[in-house]
Amino acid sequence: GFAIPTKEDIIEEKNVGLIRLRSNENPYGPSVLARNAMRDSINGSNRYNWELLEELIGKIAQKHNLTDQSILLGAGSSEILNLVALYCSKKSGNLIIAETTFDYWTVTAENAGLKKIAIPLTADKKHDLTAMLKAIDADTRLIYICNPNNPTGTLCASEALLNFINEATKRTKVLVDEAYLDFTDQPSLANLVSENKNLIIAKTFSKIYGLAGARIGYAIVHPETITEMNQLHFSASGSVSIPSASGALASLKDDKFVAETILLNAEARKYTIEQLENLKIRCIPSHTNFVYFSLENYNKDFFEQLKKNAILGTKIYEEKGKWSRITIGTMKEMKQFIKALT
Ligand code: PLP
Repeated sequence: GFAIPTKEDIIEEKNVGLIRLRSNENPYGPSVLARNAMRDSINGSNRYNWELLEELIGKIAQKHNLTDQSILLGAGSSEILNLVALYCSKKSGNLIIAETTFDYWTVTAENAGLKKIAIPLTADKKHDLTAMLKAIDADTRLIYICNPNNPTGTLCASEALLNFINEATKRTKVLVDEAYLDFTDQPSLANLVSENKNLIIAKTFSKIYGLAGARIGYAIVHPETITEMNQLHFSASGSVSIPSASGALASLKDDKFVAETILLNAEARKYTIEQLENLKIRCIPSHTNFVYFSLENYNKDFFEQLKKNAILGTKIYEEKGKWSRITIGTMKEMKQFIKALT
């Protein structure tokens, strides 16, 4: 596959304005408020600005109706996922995870000794919560639920997920990754952590707020669990840079940017799915800023068509059915994408 951009891709991008539909970034970001705040923050970057980090933590906590002690910042939610992997592998055992999902971070868990148990998605590409619950044994240290799921764009039904968390957290830690939840109208599960030491929520500023390159995300966790996690990792929210924290803080005030992103994404996504289906490419209904589709009935070389048109896609995630994913860019980019396939 081609998950990591090659040197050639980067050179091409500089030369011909490559269309990047690979990594589920927000094509409109950062918001203007965030750009200005990041620019203004540069002069203060000679200082450790703990107060700013505390202010950001306070605003995040307020947004989720929690105490500051429930929030842990990271340089992207990837740092949070890695930290959870380390935290949950202090004792050897297994990690239950869907196949197919966002799993790059599980190398950390596997290197730390956890054995991966992969549970297939259902036929409609959703998490099989019943099977995942059944798979828990005395050695299970962590279950990962990506909601909505990357790369399939599917969402767990609210009530089923709540029941699952209620049952599963009696026996093991559950990590819910809400990287794309803001594209849906489903509420965050953040409010559950004050009563549940075994539930960890991962969030990011990379997607809806368009700050992927700024590297900022956070965990929402019971304060006692955060204390334990911090024993594994010296930085304790301090891996976030001042410009990134400033951008994130400003982003939280920019509701208009979020609303516009949701709207523009929904329009471009609707167009993309309709056009793909016209080309006999079957799509999974998406709750996110990307679409998962089967190339089984597409008779050209998909990746060659992208390459010829300077479009960066991803890879085949599942050989059976030839399932791939495309990020929803701007409407103009999606029109170029469809034209490339036609
Ligand atoms: N979680 C999911 C589901 C993702 O798709 C991604 C990135 O694509 C991440 C986490 C990591 O993002 P970041 O480290 O930029 O917060």
